[in-house]
Amino acid sequence: MRPLSFSSALCLLLALPAAPALADAPALYRDASQPVEARIEDLLARMTLEEKVGQMTLIERASVQKPEDVAQYQLGALLSGAGDAPQPNVPESWYAMVENFQRQALTTRLAIPLLYAVDAVHGHSYMKDTTVFPHNIGLGAADNPALTEAIARATAEEMQAAGIHWNFAPALSMAQDVRWGRTYESFSEDSDRVRRHAAAALRGLQQLRPSDTPAGSQKLFTLGTPKHFIADGATVWGSARLGNFRLDRGDSRDAEELMRRRDLPAYRDAVNAGALSIMASFSSWHGLPMHGNPLLTSLLKDELGFTGFVVSDWQGINPVNYGNYRAAVVQSVNAGLDMVMVPDKYALFIDTLLAAVRDGEVSQARIDDAVRRILRAKFALGLFERPLPGRDWQRRVRAAEHRLLARQAVQQSMVLLKNDGQLLPLAEDLPLLRVAGQGADDIGLQSGGWTIKWQGQPGDITLGTTILDGLRRVLGPQRIQYAADGHFSGPRKAAVGLVVLAEPPYAEGIGDLEDIRLTADEIALLQRMRAHSEKLVVVLLSGRPRVITEQLPLADAWVAAWLPGSEASASADVLTGRVPFRGTLPFSWPRSLAQLPINTYNSSGKTGCDAPLFPLGHGLRAGQQWLAVGECR
Ligand code: BGC
Repeated sequence: MRPLSFSSALCLLLALPAAPALADAPALYRDASQPVEARIEDLLARMTLEEKVGQMTLIERASVQKPEDVAQYQLGALLSGAGDAPQPNVPESWYAMVENFQRQALTTRLAIPLLYAVDAVHGHSYMKDTTVFPHNIGLGAADNPALTEAIARATAEEMQAAGIHWNFAPALSMAQDVRWGRTYESFSEDSDRVRRHAAAALRGLQQLRPSDTPAGSQKLFTLGTPKHFIADGATVWGSARLGNFRLDRGDSRDAEELMRRRDLPAYRDAVNAGALSIMASFSSWHGLPMHGNPLLTSLLKDELGFTGFVVSDWQGINPVNYGNYRAAVVQSVNAGLDMVMVPDKYALFIDTLLAAVRDGEVSQARIDDAVRRILRAKFALGLFERPLPGRDWQRRVRAAEHRLLARQAVQQSMVLLKNDGQLLPLAEDLPLLRVAGQGADDIGLQSGGWTIKWQGQPGDITLGTTILDGLRRVLGPQRIQYAADGHFSGPRKAAVGLVVLAEPPYAEGIGDLEDIRLTADEIALLQRMRAHSEKLVVVLLSGRPRVITEQLPLADAWVAAWLPGSEASASADVLTGRVPFRGTLPFSWPRSLAQLPINTYNSSGKTGCDAPLFPLGHGLRAGQQWLAVGECR
């Protein structure tokens, strides 16, 4: 079969009828009316080994030496990783970027379209001025699966605006130790709560609505990727091997029975809900890196019946054998990895895998199995008929409906930890409210990691509203005084003070933190505000519970607001009682550093000072009072 000309490729790209060039060799795989399995077998039978290995290769777009390499190496997939955005960072640039790569893929002999991925883990948040939703920890606190599903759907729409149809989400992690820098990517430490959101998030990303089928052939809306298989949140402190990482990419040593009871059910649900791509975990299971672990096949594919493809994490195969890349490639692919996020040295990966197949270290059958799985996802997405989403989705970026969903999520995620004297909700006719803390007025801080940049960053990094904006909206600007540092002039005490304490943004192992107590600066700010106010409210913005036991008496009311994203102004509606508090803790809240790790699986039955400060599920309603257990040493 001769190579597809650029004009025929363009016809495909524009979803026009099949080009005449294809008519001379009846290509069943091009016929959308054929069953997917028949299309897969037809295409596979036409592919050379080089084409198959190309399909198994996933590359970060900035590592592509020249665009033509996409065609030359017949790459299967690209991603925009670690905050890598085209400039200017607007939908049209993203769309043009993906379109150019897709054009390259469609010039190849078999014109197999690319998959293009991004980490839209709380909205398509590497693109500027999108809707940034609360991180999963907040959605877990809201515990409203219908809302999680609607948010995933909105995220998928904003991804499509950028030409992207593959999301490395949802994370099904269950952080067991809140010192982990990825705690906020977990819906909860608790299996049941994660399960309530796993399938919902996947459905939101993947399920088509009837109005989304203009070509009549697309089957998934976008492709989701439950991650990271398995027990990524259950590693042992100090077992990580990379730099300063302590938990992230470490080793899980739990009993198999616990792993099966806690971590596996969410994956089973995801598989049953139609997952066609699942990401392997950077972590190890009893010393064996998951990327080279036969559990990928025996547990995920054989036992759960997963028919999609297992994608590696970023350079995830390298640690399988640091000293010997070829051995790492062989072990990973043989363990069941189907697509490798190389993500840079593609020629090396491709040559290595080709040589391993030629030398019999990886079987043809294993390669065929991997490629079948990848093609299954591409056919399920309808990519052969429609390699790019319509440009119309650009109208949905920061759409009013999406911002409304984000506001609802912000409100429902707020957890009232303590409320002495029923200080909250604040009276709307409050004469003066003094507000302090940089977090009260900082879009970057309230959004956390995976926002514009991989690690996030403080400041006006994208459009949005802050807690301070919300308080001014509800109470009136004249009744709010704001000083980030808590230094106020004027009357010595305000009736009420409100401090927003925010963790600096972080992501992954860079956020692994041994000391999760409030910092000296934060405590000083609290004390200053205490002196300035008759009554004090603390709002915590954080990606995890922090140890606050000693400071708890300094304020009358404490609220956990997690990482609310771009629409934080909505929190003011809850603080002032327009909307009731309804969030509940998705994590056990530790009383002390000495207790860590503490979670529902290792603390059940513990009481008094041995119990968490606030248990999983804690969350006061209006009129409820929290009673401390007393002095604990
Ligand atoms: C993370 C993954 C992410 C990938 C691609 C990795 O560092 O562990 O969760 O999907 O990068 O950005």
